[in-house]
Amino acid sequence: MDVEVESLKFLSPDDVRMVAERFGTPTFVYDEATIKRAAAEMAALPNAFGLTVRYSLKACPSQAIIRLFDREGFAFDASSVWEARRAVLAGVHPGRISLTAQEAVFDHSLKELIDQGLQFDAGSLHQLTEYGKQYPSGSIAVRVNPGFGSGLVNRLNSGGVNSSFGIWHDQIPEMKAALEEYGLKLVRLQSHIGSGHHWNILVDAVKKLLAIARQFPDVQTLDLGGGYRVKALLSDPEYDHTEWARVVADELTTFAEETGRRLRIEVEPGTFLTALSGALVTRVIDRTDTGSEGQTFLKINSGLTEIARPSYYGVTHPLVSVPAEGPLRTEVEKCNVVGHCCIAGDVLTAVYQPEEALAPASLGRTEIGDYLVIERAGSYCSSMSMKNFNSYPEAAEVLRRADGSLDLIRSRQTLEQLVANEVIPSGL
Ligand SMILES: *Cc1c(COP(=O)(O)O)cnc(C)c1O
Repeated sequence: MDVEVESLKFLSPDDVRMVAERFGTPTFVYDEATIKRAAAEMAALPNAFGLTVRYSLKACPSQAIIRLFDREGFAFDASSVWEARRAVLAGVHPGRISLTAQEAVFDHSLKELIDQGLQFDAGSLHQLTEYGKQYPSGSIAVRVNPGFGSGLVNRLNSGGVNSSFGIWHDQIPEMKAALEEYGLKLVRLQSHIGSGHHWNILVDAVKKLLAIARQFPDVQTLDLGGGYRVKALLSDPEYDHTEWARVVADELTTFAEETGRRLRIEVEPGTFLTALSGALVTRVIDRTDTGSEGQTFLKINSGLTEIARPSYYGVTHPLVSVPAEGPLRTEVEKCNVVGHCCIAGDVLTAVYQPEEALAPASLGRTEIGDYLVIERAGSYCSSMSMKNFNSYPEAAEVLRRADGSLDLIRSRQTLEQLVANEVIPSGL
């Protein structure tokens, strides 16, 4: 084989066929051993005065996955009250959850969670004031927009002048005034500059947070958010997260020498903890081409309904062709892979930079009836899809246990469930 093709990350070709036979396709498979390895790696990052790892629930909020992190002793980052409630439903104590949300209304649900210990992270001056009205003299965290950000693609950058997240770094006097008005104690400063950021920019954000922390003596913790990269594709470099962690630890040590304050670090990875632990097993249902000068297309029985990242961000996932039987084929071909939705954008092999274009993947020779496995599908796939578009049912989810056995953790949706909340008025 002279062209390198992507390979399966934790399933064997026989596992893929067994998943399809037992659970049908498309099915997400999450690997417990890979999750635990990533979790151990994050928890072991160098730090100066302590480290808390929060699993960012929005990456993959299936209750079995939440439980896995809960059993491992992790804390949680929720992006909405609903997500926090979902974690509580899975058995997580509210005191282990931090809420950093764009939408935070102090209704009965949110107040109940806060009363049970949920830590509120104000993402705007308005949220800070509303919290102050409800909980005068309380403790609070604040999300800061440090004035810059970084992400894998522009849509994943959540800092800088074009980002609505957090309190703008120049509005610290207003923040201080609001804290004083309600007697609030600022105990944690947070910044999440983006997903898939460059770590040198993360370090700049830490410096910014430290400069702010000097004005607020009650701050005990810096929360660096998530966004830590993973090597998913053959073409991706290796990332050594101990590099930035050491630099951050040095910054905190210097801060402690200068101020006598030993700050703890929190990180909130979603991608890092789950991305590589997930594979989406799909079936190749058709093969077409647009002539000898044109393109070859493999059509799969999945797509936007399970995985929006390629269309939404223009990012590439490792794709692996697995024959319906026999060993992986060594003959390599360049194919485009498209989803089953009747919309032109349902393409898994496209690039958006510098301009929108097809970017066929190198795959083992693939026939109709074979399987196509989409790797790196453990984060922002099941949780961030165009579920139910074209009325396809929500896919099944399976957890591959440490001993290799497969447990169903979410059944495939039925048509009845898909329409369950619809109401047909009388006379129709
Ligand atoms: C999404 C998000 C994260 C997780 O980001 P990843 O890129 O998945 O690591 C962490 N913190 C906050 C506030 C987020 O919104």
